[in-house]
Amino acid sequence: MPPQTRKQFGQHWLKSEAALEAIVAAAGVGKGDRILEIGPGTGILTRRLLPLAQAVLAVEIDRDLCKLLVEQLGKRDNFLLLQGDFLTMDLGDTLESFPNFQRPNKVVANIPYNITGPILEKLLGAIATPNPSPFDSIVLLVQKEVAERLSARPSSRAFGGLSVRVQYLANCEWICEVPARAFQPPPKVDSAVVRLTPRPTEPPATDPKRLDALVKMGFATKRKMLRNNLTSVVERDRLAQLLEELGLNSQVRAEDLSVANWVALSNRLNQTEFN
Ligand code: SAH
Repeated sequence: MPPQTRKQFGQHWLKSEAALEAIVAAAGVGKGDRILEIGPGTGILTRRLLPLAQAVLAVEIDRDLCKLLVEQLGKRDNFLLLQGDFLTMDLGDTLESFPNFQRPNKVVANIPYNITGPILEKLLGAIATPNPSPFDSIVLLVQKEVAERLSARPSSRAFGGLSVRVQYLANCEWICEVPARAFQPPPKVDSAVVRLTPRPTEPPATDPKRLDALVKMGFATKRKMLRNNLTSVVERDRLAQLLEELGLNSQVRAEDLSVANWVALSNRLNQTEFN
């Protein structure tokens, strides 16, 4: 029997073979890979990763689960378990005495959904502060609605501020849906696997803080025309002119701008025009 779950840690044990296979396949785990797994839980995914990867570094907050994991997997020399909160842990410092587990190149995890946003930010960084040594790829099982937003294309229902922020830093792919019944206990929502592949932004924002602020303002009121959402930061006529230069209709909404459009808009504004 799997151990009792703790709600505060967002624990739902994955039990679907198909979902586990899809996650491992999406990550393309091979002998040269050093994997970081956040929230190994009972180790169901960890057990699949260990024989394939060079090393698996897992971070688990729940002490009781850590005891079980050490009993069951502790003898593997390519496994390192760190007990603690992934969000506050300084991996660089902690790994100084474990050279084989330093600089993991891929993340593979079924994460606790209640801290998805902060986990994404810790892995990718943010528009103004991108992670300086990004991962080759990040494969995550997340809430379906979040997966839709991460992989959404412009002008679709799910395309929002989160889509722009994350797609600015990484290619985002929808891999597959995972129904609630694939977990024990089943969560209230369906899930999906996504793959994020960090890459340099082309072209980059010349002033990432401005881009960040612009996106925030642009999406502040859903479904409003962009020119109405940005009135407090950009002169109306200037915005109309910029939209025209970008080949966009003056009545566009925030969700109609591609990531490249957002970057172009931000880059064309100069400091004095943006307040
Ligand atoms: N990967 C397992 C468990 C998923 S549930 C499976 O697929 O079955 C999420 C896991 O994340 C739980 O084990 C939970 O204890 C752990 N967790 C929750 N918050 C965490 C945090 N801040 N840092 C590290 N692990 C965390």
